[in-house]
Amino acid sequence: TSDALSGSIRERLGTEGLAFFDAIAPIFSRESIDESVAWLGSRYGKGEAAYLNCPLDSDQYEAFVDGLLGADTHQGHDWENVPYFEGCLPIEVMAQRGRETLRFGPMRPVGLNDPGTGLRYHAVAQLRAEDLGGRMWNLVGFQTRLRRGEQERVFRMIPGLGEAEFLRYGSIHRNSYLRFPRTLSSHGGLPALPNLVFAGQLTGVEGYTESIASGLMAALNIDRMERGLDPVLPPPTTMLGGLYRYLREADPEHFQPMNANFGLLDPLEQKVRGGKRKRRAVYSDRAMAAIQRWSDEFRPGAGSAGRA
Ligand SMILES: Cc1cc2nc3c(=O)[nH]c(=O)nc-3n(C[C@H](O)[C@H](O)[C@H](O)COP(=O)(O)OP(=O)(O)OC[C@H]3O[C@@H](n4cnc5c(N)ncnc54)[C@H](O)[C@@H]3O)c2cc1C
Repeated sequence: TSDALSGSIRERLGTEGLAFFDAIAPIFSRESIDESVAWLGSRYGKGEAAYLNCPLDSDQYEAFVDGLLGADTHQGHDWENVPYFEGCLPIEVMAQRGRETLRFGPMRPVGLNDPGTGLRYHAVAQLRAEDLGGRMWNLVGFQTRLRRGEQERVFRMIPGLGEAEFLRYGSIHRNSYLRFPRTLSSHGGLPALPNLVFAGQLTGVEGYTESIASGLMAALNIDRMERGLDPVLPPPTTMLGGLYRYLREADPEHFQPMNANFGLLDPLEQKVRGGKRKRRAVYSDRAMAAIQRWSDEFRPGAGSAGRA
């Protein structure tokens, strides 16, 4: 994004509206987290029980630190070199500062005692729901530049995550994006100027296909508004509808870009046997049928005046 463009966006949205780095922690599907190990609760039992807590004893913690220190990181390109902020250092950089650093940082155990015995754990890793539906859980504070295979190897050492399914891998990039849930309306328009619609990675979607699809949505909705119709979005049984739902409903304080993944979709109405492959095929069939119905109703020329 050029300086002129980001300057102009900042003028309209304020500095709070625009972010320049993503520091992404991995996200796991809830169904793959072992909840006989991880337990739901909050620090000191305060407020809503909003975290899944994965407890570690000292041997597990030491093994985890060793795993992290021995892991291979993605170096990135020169131009991509990120000046790390103290508040969101990669987890592997924190571990390099000392073996105890994580226990005083994102794996702090205080206020998270064993709910059965009341005893303090040596360390605790916490997951927080990324979406209102509670399907995607973010490993809080574990932003990382480890290679994907290394993330699988090391993060699955955490008790409760042994079989965890990665919906999104951790990463850190130089990236300009708007804080969509705080600044834009549901179709990506500027509330004060609805015909100004943002698309692509600037809106917090990540990836080629996601960016192209959001560009298509922006064009479709600008065309509709020019014709006096309300903007529309596909239903959250489709990947694009699920992605827009995330952008709209994500916690604005912790908003980070998102790529297409199955955790964005509405859960299936019925349990599907036959494993992840079979389940994903059913998700895909349902999505294809839904986008076809939606497109029959709303594509230009279909003649509908439906609402978003
Ligand atoms: C190194 C790297 C590897 C990646 N690999 C993949 C991958 O394998 N698969 C994948 O799906 N995604 C990948 N991505 C992410 C992907 O590139 C982006 O998500 C996608 O390109 C975003 O598309 P976009 O059109 O929103 O933005 P961009 O592709 O960034 O396009 C924005 C355009 O706007 C132009 N522009 C900026 N300011 C102005 C201005 N003031 N006036 C006019 N024009 C302006 C820019 O020059 C640019 O051409 C990668 C990203 C990086 C950095």
